[in-house]
Amino acid sequence: MNSNSPLKDLNRVGQVLANRLKALGLETISDLLFYFPFRYEDYSKVVSLDGVKEGEQVTVKGKIEHIASKRSPRKRKMITEAIVVDATERIRVVWFGQPFLSKILLVGDTVYLSGKVTRDGFGLHMVSPSYEKILESADSVQTAHTARIVPIYPLTAGITEKQMRFLVSQALPYVKEVEDWLPDDIQKKAGLVGLHEALQWLHFPENFNQVKTSEERLKFDEFFLLQLRAEMIRQEIQRTRAVPIPFHQELIKQFVESLPFVLTPDQKKSAWEILQDMQKSHPMNRLLEGDVGSGKTVVSAIGMYNVILSGYQSILLSPTEILAVQHFETLQKVFDMFGVKIALLTRTKALANYEEVGIKENQSFVQRKKKILDSIKSGEAQIVLGTHALLSDGVNFHKVGFVVVDEQHRFGVEQRKTILEKSQNKGLVAHFLSMTATPIPRTFALAIYGDLDLSIIKTKPQGRKPIQTRVVEPHHRQKAYDFIHAQVKQGRQVFVICPLIEQKEEKKSVLEEYEKLSKYIFPDLKIAFLHGKMAEKNEVMEKFSKQEIDILVATSVVEVGVDIPNATVMIIEGAEQFGLAQLHQFRGRVGRSDHQSYCFLFTESLSESVKERLNFFEKTLDGFALSEYDLQTRGPGEVYGKTQSGLMHMRLGTMKDTEIIKKSRDMARGIDFTQYPQLKEKVRDWEGKVHLE
Ligand code: ADP
Ligand code: MG
Repeated sequence: MNSNSPLKDLNRVGQVLANRLKALGLETISDLLFYFPFRYEDYSKVVSLDGVKEGEQVTVKGKIEHIASKRSPRKRKMITEAIVVDATERIRVVWFGQPFLSKILLVGDTVYLSGKVTRDGFGLHMVSPSYEKILESADSVQTAHTARIVPIYPLTAGITEKQMRFLVSQALPYVKEVEDWLPDDIQKKAGLVGLHEALQWLHFPENFNQVKTSEERLKFDEFFLLQLRAEMIRQEIQRTRAVPIPFHQELIKQFVESLPFVLTPDQKKSAWEILQDMQKSHPMNRLLEGDVGSGKTVVSAIGMYNVILSGYQSILLSPTEILAVQHFETLQKVFDMFGVKIALLTRTKALANYEEVGIKENQSFVQRKKKILDSIKSGEAQIVLGTHALLSDGVNFHKVGFVVVDEQHRFGVEQRKTILEKSQNKGLVAHFLSMTATPIPRTFALAIYGDLDLSIIKTKPQGRKPIQTRVVEPHHRQKAYDFIHAQVKQGRQVFVICPLIEQKEEKKSVLEEYEKLSKYIFPDLKIAFLHGKMAEKNEVMEKFSKQEIDILVATSVVEVGVDIPNATVMIIEGAEQFGLAQLHQFRGRVGRSDHQSYCFLFTESLSESVKERLNFFEKTLDGFALSEYDLQTRGPGEVYGKTQSGLMHMRLGTMKDTEIIKKSRDMARGIDFTQYPQLKEKVRDWEGKVHLE
């Protein structure tokens, strides 16, 4: 047997248990070694009840003498009250909002309670302690497991903590076979323990100092991998060459002054950073981050214009046709006085703002597409807009100086690579800017995008009224509908986002909602629907934009950048199913004009945690704060998409580990990979495993 042996080889693991372990992603002994406890119970310090003191965090052991749940008189909350007794004393225990407790914990049961002791008018008591019921039959084994700091593993039905501990203790001898990939000198310099100790201690620590030391080592490993990968990319970029584009100061100034608004300080700074990068002879690789409506497009337009002025082409890639067309309209307007030639190509649209291209009304799409392709190839088209369609083989660019990707999380690594490869000319690589509306805190961005430079637009243009957000409970639904009706009667428009469901069910959900609203709730209003699989998406959006539709029922397709200034109400059904960052994206669809805008979150869920989350959203308009909340409560995968974030594959590291992130970054920066070929190997290996985007 070795560390790669299947878990079935362990004592007391049959097919049934093996299957359950597999559901947790555990197949080999090594998997088990890397399956970490999420917390510990310090049963080494159980105090007797006569020894507990006010304000202390304690673990006690006692028998339940009384337990009952009831509704609190004022707050309409469920309270569970219990009396627990040991040989020395008795203590009152209170839990809020967990009425099921009185069914799980019964009079006569022996329990461990772990929590804080507080005092009220009646004396000492424990409020909402964590609990663990001790099964009488397991007593002898249990005490062997509990006379120490006990690891608690995240589990699934059918596996007990006790079983898990037993399995891990069988696996631990194989720790020595796990290769410690961190070179000795780096380990020393970073002040870390060896991998074998770290694994051993994390599972069965003798004290909490060992837990801390192990965590530091294992977290470092996770972040270091990401940083190494970023460093590899960074060094590659440093080696490649790009066209240096000079800063056309006077002409850019004219362009900026021609805009119908004044740039915000953050927009100015970001534009400046982009223009600085472009002057270098290695390619820019920058991420422009800014909340929805913060004005990223115009910042990228400044970069695109500067590139055109040097005689190179600029490309702006959008995730959807709707967005590409919208960019076409926006850029056409801002460049109106400057004679910039803009072409657009998507799966169904071929557009240009200049006559020389030779597109005529009566031509078919195929004919127009050919004209656009020619114009792109000859370099006549100075700015090329489009979707994935631009990535296909038939598209040839001229001399590309600058590639912008909007909402970059919608594109995979491969697609980004394709566009960069396609835009190479004579071995020179285009400058690259990606834009995202997912606000990523800076430290976190360093961890996942260490290879990118970062520009952040923090403050939005002034003059917008803050969007009023309300969580609407079921019994207030009608009131909300009345309000919406009144808004429409005042000439405003409304988005309705349907609950999140399986993609194949998406259509059904939209149609049901559409039917409900158009037949029963607002029979007198003009309602339309939009879902991902519809061919007529653009037509619907156009109608909505021309105010021929009052209410648009849609799936999350409207999530990304659509600009309908007259829409002032955003309704989100099944709000509890979305992450806060995503809700924020939806909310960003309104509030784009001087009209007061509103966002209503409909939810049928009354759970405390949902309420808390949505209430936080209600009072928080800062996208960064919302992302951070999501990151801490739901994890990076929920915030940045499952495929995207390397942190998804982290077991221990979180965005709060700023010190470790910094350390791993310092260690990776400038590392000489020829000295550590095994590190490069390890990164490649890991990339293959996690399909990192
Ligand atoms: P996003 O960052 O979401 O892509 P956009 O670039 O679409 O935002 O900008 C949203 C709206 O704000 C656009 O209508 C744009 O013209 C406008 N805008 C951009 N910058 C400013 C500014 N400095 N002052 C006022 N309005 C601005
Ligand atoms: Mg945008």
